Amino acid sequence: MEAIVFERELVRAGKDAYAPDGRRMLDTLLETIPDPTLTHGPMALIPAAQLYVKDVPDLPHPRGADLLQILWCPTPNVEGESGWVFDGHIEIRWRRAEEVTHPRSVPPVPEYAVDPGKVAIPSVVSPERVVEYPPVWALSEDLRQRIGAWDEAQGNFLYRDECSVARGTKVGGWPVSTRAGAHGHRIPMCECGRRLEALVTFATCEWEPATGTRWVPIEDRNAAGAPVPTANRMPTDLQFSGGRSLQIFYCPASWDHSYKRMVF
Ligand SMILES: [Zn+2]
Repeated sequence: MEAIVFERELVRAGKDAYAPDGRRMLDTLLETIPDPTLTHGPMALIPAAQLYVKDVPDLPHPRGADLLQILWCPTPNVEGESGWVFDGHIEIRWRRAEEVTHPRSVPPVPEYAVDPGKVAIPSVVSPERVVEYPPVWALSEDLRQRIGAWDEAQGNFLYRDECSVARGTKVGGWPVSTRAGAHGHRIPMCECGRRLEALVTFATCEWEPATGTRWVPIEDRNAAGAPVPTANRMPTDLQFSGGRSLQIFYCPASWDHSYKRMVF
C-alpha cells in the first residue's frame, strides 16, 4: 500500500515513477516492505465510497439510514468471478450518521494490496444530476429500429453513447446490459423474482473522448463547455479490468436480499 501511494504521489507531482530517479526511489521503498506471501491473518478493508443521503438525495436507502459506506479488499476479486457472485470482498454498510460519534481520523491500512487498481485516490464527490434513457436493448423493437435508423443517418451511435447510459461513477441509473448466452441482454434479477436496481457504479473513466463529451463533469469543462485535459477522466485512479466499470445492484423488495454486482 505504501508503495502504491508513493507511486501515485510521484505521478501527481508530475514525475515519472518509471524514470530512473522514480524507479530508484520506488525500488528502495519496496526493499523495506515484507514479502506479501509472508502475511497471514485478517486484512483491513479499505473505504471505497462514503455517501450521505443529505448530499445525494437520489441515493436509495433503507428506512432510517442516511449514510452508505462501501468497503472492499483490494484484490481483483472485487469484480467477482462470475459477474454475479457477491462474496466477502465487498461490504455494504448502512448507518445513521448521528450514531457515528467517534469516527477514525485515519482508516486502517491493509499491509498490502494485491490489485493497485482497487486502491482509490482519496477524493471528494461533487454530485451532479444527469438524465439517462434506457439502453438500446431495453427498448421496444419499434423504438430500437427507429433509433437505429436515426443513428445510421448521422453515422454515429449518438443514442447509445450520449443519451442512454451515463458513463462515470454514479448513484442509480439504468442497469447496464449483460450478455447471457442465447438470452442476450437482460436486467439482473433477485432470487425473489424482482428486477434489481443499480445502487452505485464505480468507473475506471468518467467519460470517453471517442464517444462524445456529454458525460464530462461540469467541473471538468472549460468556460466554453469543452473538456479540460483528459487526465481528469480518471480522478480516483480506480481501474477495473479492461477499463470497465463495477455496478452494484440492490433488490427494491427488501434491503435484506442479497446485493449483486456486474462488471461492464
Ligand atoms: Zn429480492
